[in-house]
Amino acid sequence: MNVTVIGAGLAGSEAAWQLAQRGIDVTLREMKPEKKTPAHETEYFAELCCSNSLRSDQLENAVGLLKEELRRLGSLILQCADATRVEAGGALAVDRHGFARMVTEQIRSHPHITVVPGEVTEIPEGEVVIASGPLTSDALAERLQSLLGADTALHFYDAAAPLLTAESVDMDKAWFGSRYDRGTADYVNCPMTEAEYDAFWKELTTAQEAPVHGFEDKMVFEGCMPVEVMARRGHDTLCYGPLKPRGLKDPRTGKEPYAVVQL
Ligand SMILES: Cc1cc2nc3c(=O)[nH]c(=O)nc-3n(C[C@H](O)[C@H](O)[C@H](O)COP(=O)(O)OP(=O)(O)OC[C@H]3O[C@@H](n4cnc5c(N)ncnc54)[C@H](O)[C@@H]3O)c2cc1C
Repeated sequence: MNVTVIGAGLAGSEAAWQLAQRGIDVTLREMKPEKKTPAHETEYFAELCCSNSLRSDQLENAVGLLKEELRRLGSLILQCADATRVEAGGALAVDRHGFARMVTEQIRSHPHITVVPGEVTEIPEGEVVIASGPLTSDALAERLQSLLGADTALHFYDAAAPLLTAESVDMDKAWFGSRYDRGTADYVNCPMTEAEYDAFWKELTTAQEAPVHGFEDKMVFEGCMPVEVMARRGHDTLCYGPLKPRGLKDPRTGKEPYAVVQL
């Protein structure tokens, strides 16, 4: 039997690996480096295009437990992530280039995997895994759309993470630490008092906003929401989400601040 896997991202690389490890021949079709999505930059497989954190590695929460299950099932992604991890408190974060390079080497050297470069524009015959990700090329997305029917819409919601320079952070106020002092102190924590948070919230909810893409003004993706949309849902909503202060004691006061921006 031969299985075609479309896309050598995180999902496609893992799917190809798992099949190949079971002795099944895999044809892995990846459009890079000839054609790249707007978010991918390198020639490597399993390229992380945003955060290098794969989130918590603690067994007492769902994402940490899932990673341990994947490890025990011989996950390629977890093997490579563990081998290229960088310090990030209780989270599993990776050296993104080292990680992607290692996944690529493992995939390319597997005797049961044949990599065929080039964009897939038609769904091939036979057993196929489509793992072309949120930025599936237009031609394949159209094929999928016609297969799934007119009522099914394929959407991608874009989000951008801001980058800050270290010099712009006032380290007389911010401090290095990790939540609940787990692992090493790898995050910069910027505290806010209640008055500072209130001023920030008011500025944020009345600020001029970047224009959004067509469909995004009607619906946002709850899993990756613009911060201003979250702020509009309630004065303290951010304090229970990305700015939550739980487990972060300000060394200057010995107390949890009202809100914390964790970098
Ligand atoms: C800008 C951006 C920021 C993101 N930020 C985060 C984040 O911070 N955290 C997070 O968890 N997730 C984030 N995501 C989502 C992220 O893409 C997924 O978590 C993860 O990459 C999905 O893995 P995947 O294997 O499904 O898709 P991808 O990693 O996107 O892999 C799909 C692969 O298929 C290839 N491909 C596409 N179409 C074709 C075709 N027609 N023929 C052949 N090959 C094709 C692509 O080149 C790519 O290599 C972000 C996505 C984007 C675009």
